[in-house]
Amino acid sequence: PNKTLPEYLRKTAAEFGRHDAIYFLGKTLTFREVYEQALTLANYLRQLGLQKGDRVSIMLPNCPQAVVSYYGVLLAGGIVVQTNPLYTEHELEYQLNDSGATVLITLDMLYPKAVKAKEKANVKHLIITSVKDYLPAIKKWLYPLMQRKQGQPAVARVEERSDQHLFSKIMSRPNTTEPDIAIDVEDIALLQYTGGTTGVPKAAMLTHRNLIANTLMCAHWMYRCGKGTESILGILPFFHVYGMTTIMNLAVVQAYKMILLPRFDVETTLKTIEKLRPTLFPGAPTMYIALLNHPNLPRYDLSSIKVCISGSAPLPVEVQEKFEKLTGGKLIEGYGLTEASPVTHSNFVWDGERVKGSIGVPWPDTEAKIVSLETGEEAKVNEIGELVVRGPQVMKGYWNQPHETENVLRGGWLYTGDIGYMDERGYFYIVDRKKDIIIASGYNIYPREVEEVLYEHPKVQEAVVVGVPDEYRGETVKAFVVLKQGAQCTEEELDQFMRSRLASYKVPRMYEFRKELPKTAVGKILRRALLEEEKKKNN
Ligand code: ATP
Repeated sequence: PNKTLPEYLRKTAAEFGRHDAIYFLGKTLTFREVYEQALTLANYLRQLGLQKGDRVSIMLPNCPQAVVSYYGVLLAGGIVVQTNPLYTEHELEYQLNDSGATVLITLDMLYPKAVKAKEKANVKHLIITSVKDYLPAIKKWLYPLMQRKQGQPAVARVEERSDQHLFSKIMSRPNTTEPDIAIDVEDIALLQYTGGTTGVPKAAMLTHRNLIANTLMCAHWMYRCGKGTESILGILPFFHVYGMTTIMNLAVVQAYKMILLPRFDVETTLKTIEKLRPTLFPGAPTMYIALLNHPNLPRYDLSSIKVCISGSAPLPVEVQEKFEKLTGGKLIEGYGLTEASPVTHSNFVWDGERVKGSIGVPWPDTEAKIVSLETGEEAKVNEIGELVVRGPQVMKGYWNQPHETENVLRGGWLYTGDIGYMDERGYFYIVDRKKDIIIASGYNIYPREVEEVLYEHPKVQEAVVVGVPDEYRGETVKAFVVLKQGAQCTEEELDQFMRSRLASYKVPRMYEFRKELPKTAVGKILRRALLEEEKKKNN
């Protein structure tokens, strides 16, 4: 790819300017409007003194302003820092300091948190937007983001000041001249902090080329979906790389209409699919599982769905089959990680064999191999080792972390930290993450294998297993289980089921039933949070 992200938006606005780009709680914006608003913001940022390469943090849930801000910052020559609106003050402060962001764009609802973090970081300007126009529908969605204390006003009144600007005011004075800045495809477009399921967040430096390459691969992968023809459900957050590429950037490049929801809620998702009939629905396994288990599911017509890509965690085979039967569309497993913009593998949508339980084959232009954990040499077919990948979507490195970068980028190859193998036909399989392996009495146990079996139990909705300290075995397996609505089940019943299917050393020695499990922004179960709870208990 030799065009930057803003150039793609410009092209789509020229060719499909009148097409709807965004639908959000009853209102729509065309591609032309998105482009003009992004230009207006870009010019404003330049007036504030933003220079090429300066970082701007965007802390927004999915809403039209999130798309406009992302492209506005890029048009101004800035680097986007995506920030999770659920971050605590402390996490926000860490990210602002680490990235050196000088501007923070956020919602009035998050203003108190933003102001405090601004004081402790090098942020010079706040740009505050509001989704008030969408109230009251939005309230129910966003209240949990505010971490509001009792008695505090719902939404802070934000005054205009020299260091505080109102998004709506900026938009009321359109300025659609093209900023005169040379942006190269090799320039960094984004600092994307990794999901944080395993430790201290690090920011991957992703260039325009990285992001566009991955978006074009995605478009190519769905080659039967023509330009300007599809509508895509935007529930995965755009502040995470997965939704950003496979929804927002894909929609911009391919002129698809984005139907945005600021949060995942099962009933609203079902209603939205029935009413607005999106054709594409990228998601995470936990989302599809939650939809399938909703008691009102049979009442809804989900037949508009054509293609779903499922990533971020393993997709249980049973879930895939049920979902496809229900919608008549395809639910295809893919694989990726922040450091690769993110997608590197997937199964085929239409032609080519789809192998269940496999993450599929590398995407076009992407190389992948398995290397031995002992020798570092390329592993044999079906031999387990670490998955390494190379391609135009692989990051430049981690921001300000040369040592971490050297650890994972070697000779152009990205070491993913995921354990897997490749079969004789070139299909790849993820067995588990290097860091998650449980070692009990010297045996390696891959949590995923145990979880897959738990998911086969008819009463189990969600399951995750972790290693907990054990006097005799070193570690032992503990399972956290969420039962389906209304289901009753005992530990003994699960134990019997597991013993009939797994070698004894893999069978969980402890079960804990929960109403829900902690999850990340894209719905991935937060194994680390559970491990930490266990550690605390044992101390
Ligand atoms: P951190 O890297 O900070 O620990 P994270 O794991 O949430 O956080 P992401 O980049 O969001 O970071 O997730 C990438 C990881 O998700 C991969 O390395 C892999 O372990 C897992 N993953 C993604 N897709 C799949 C899949 N289809 N099957 C199994 N695991 C997957």
